[in-house]
Amino acid sequence: MKPLKSIMKSQDKRNVKIKPCEECGKNNEHYDLYIDGEFKTRIGSDICFSCQMKKEDEQIRREARESRINARIAKAKNYSVIPFELEGVSFQDYKPENQTQKDAYDLSVKFAKGEMDRTTLFFQGDTGLGKSHLSYCIHQHYINDRKASIFIDLPSLLSEIRSTYGNKNDWRARTQDDIMNALKEADLLVLDDIGAEYVKPDANGYESWAADILFQIANSRQGKKNIYTTNFTSRDLTKKYGMMSKRIISRLMNNSKVIKVEGKDHRLKGLE
Ligand SMILES: [Zn+2]
Repeated sequence: MKPLKSIMKSQDKRNVKIKPCEECGKNNEHYDLYIDGEFKTRIGSDICFSCQMKKEDEQIRREARESRINARIAKAKNYSVIPFELEGVSFQDYKPENQTQKDAYDLSVKFAKGEMDRTTLFFQGDTGLGKSHLSYCIHQHYINDRKASIFIDLPSLLSEIRSTYGNKNDWRARTQDDIMNALKEADLLVLDDIGAEYVKPDANGYESWAADILFQIANSRQGKKNIYTTNFTSRDLTKKYGMMSKRIISRLMNNSKVIKVEGKDHRLKGLE
């Protein structure tokens, strides 16, 4: 049997130097490690061991934060419905043709950059004047800033919610609560085309189911960033939503900048 001492390797430090850690300034040892009299490696870095650990911790926390942000962005994307004609459009593509359109453009850019104190933009005007176009650009700007933004038109949203009623037994399927929570949690909600939904009116002639959902959404979005667009006047909306209309409109309009866009439908120009 070999004596224990010959199995254990001898380690020794040579050329020991003390340098201050670049982070905390504490003394930090550097040396050449020799094993059994043979040079093995140089030990010591610019920062001390405890600063290295701290940096690794920060890195792990940073990565966890990033993956949480990525998950929120992906979730918002999952709940968005982007119309085909808006895919890829940008602020540069918007060509204002009159002062109201120029104002709409300027305010949209301001809102996208977070330079507006109002929480909500409320676009009103006929179809084809670029309300959705500008809203989409703001939505895209948010995503580029790594924020969670949902873009959806109210008719699609309502039919999405209605479709959840049919799959109550499927635990994997999206529920109304999932949708409402996603809308609530987003950094920005673009709710396009309010009033364009076709919903069967109730006995009083009002669309109370749609009105109730719209109210819940508007309520859950108080104090958050929103863009609402509609082709309707508030008088039209009042007719549509009946009893709830006052409360809905006041929630939608709360802390908002109303932008009335006027002009001729961009998309019909070729037909004139
Ligand atoms: Zn240190």
